[in-house]
Amino acid sequence: MAQHDVIIIGGGAAGMMAAITAKRRGASVLMCEKMPKLGKKLLITGAGRCNLSNDVLDASFYNPGSQALVRSVLGQFGKEAVFRFFKELGLATYADEAGRIFPVTNQAASVLKVLEMELERLKVTIDLGCEIKNIRVVKNGFEISAGSGERETGLKIILCAGGKSYPALGADGNGYALAAMFGHKIIEPVPSTVPLLVKDPWCHALQGQKLRVSVTSRIRGKEVRTASGELLFTQYGLSGTAVLDVSDEISIALNRDHEASVSVIVDLLPFMDEKELTAELSGKLAKGIACENLVEGLLPHKLSGLLRETLHGSDVAAITRLLKRKEFKVIGTRGWNEAEFTAGGIPVEEADPLTLESKLQKGLYFAGEVLDVQGRRGGYNLAWAWASGAVAGKTA
Ligand SMILES: Cc1cc2nc3c(=O)[nH]c(=O)nc-3n(C[C@H](O)[C@H](O)[C@H](O)COP(=O)(O)OP(=O)(O)OC[C@H]3O[C@@H](n4cnc5c(N)ncnc54)[C@H](O)[C@@H]3O)c2cc1C
Repeated sequence: MAQHDVIIIGGGAAGMMAAITAKRRGASVLMCEKMPKLGKKLLITGAGRCNLSNDVLDASFYNPGSQALVRSVLGQFGKEAVFRFFKELGLATYADEAGRIFPVTNQAASVLKVLEMELERLKVTIDLGCEIKNIRVVKNGFEISAGSGERETGLKIILCAGGKSYPALGADGNGYALAAMFGHKIIEPVPSTVPLLVKDPWCHALQGQKLRVSVTSRIRGKEVRTASGELLFTQYGLSGTAVLDVSDEISIALNRDHEASVSVIVDLLPFMDEKELTAELSGKLAKGIACENLVEGLLPHKLSGLLRETLHGSDVAAITRLLKRKEFKVIGTRGWNEAEFTAGGIPVEEADPLTLESKLQKGLYFAGEVLDVQGRRGGYNLAWAWASGAVAGKTA
């Protein structure tokens, strides 16, 4: 049984960054990863392209409760540091028109490869297929035990075990149990960035149809967040980037707070305001265009039939209202296999914002999705994984 300066639990984005950072400052590092390979989730990020950061990176892109901690961490390892880190590893990147940063190869495998090359160059000890089941405090730091019975000791531990999304790729929430051993409370994890379950005849009728829309979440009668982008009608409800972007608060309301009054309001024609739309529809009616054909040319043909069934007569105000504010009651979300992220986890108040050391257990640190930090889509979650991994790796 060897003694290490730092033991890292989890070989995802945060764990690899923490290992590289700790080893570069001279610590002896052991990284334990339960899967047979490192970075399984990293490979599927950004639909295989890996949106690894964003050109506009600050705490305002994270859940409100986490922003003070995120500000402190990004203040130490922000946008420029992420850029420099990957440049030094030989990874060329570019920003798209929305500021999202990708590798020039457009392959997440390139990101994983340069990280693995650096871990190898630094001779970080990596134990693959090693799931840590228990951590206990011993005289000289901590002793960890794996499912296989293997034990190791380390002065410091960095817990980078991720959240609960896509459990087949490794992170399945067991990291929370490890943190709870030291008295950490766990904010109930719920799927975030996740498609929504909706029972509405429109979803069935328009299944497979994609539209460019604006979506607003409405919880307990209050409009919470608006996002523009794609809406996809599916067999079970609604998906697409605009829906994913408003899904976080919805999932918390439904899955954690058991709130019944949750809906999304879809503006099917965001490029026209109500006045313009009313004028357009009135003009068409005046030309003698039949009511069922009023939206031809503005929306896909399938919608004409639906409008005919939904509305009776040629009430322009009612048609305008429906097209600008079609409300769908949300009855649930899809599960962990379709959620890109986790809302919940270790409360940020229980970690030191400067070092990410546990406030309850000296020598225990956290990084990545295991903490209750959620970034917007657009590279913010990986940016958090890199930044928190670097901060924990620097001090642990
Ligand atoms: C489909 C999808 C697409 C995404 N796309 C993007 C994107 O383009 N941009 C972006 O910013 N974010 C994206 N994300 C989110 C991003 O993947 C996460 O933010 C990031 O991977 C979190 O890193 P992490 O290291 O904290 O956790 P993980 O990457 O989940 O790594 C945790 C690791 O810990 C290991 N582990 C868990 N428990 C133990 C244990 N007990 N012992 C040993 N090992 C353990 C797991 O096997 C896993 O490898 C996406 C997520 C998904 C699911």
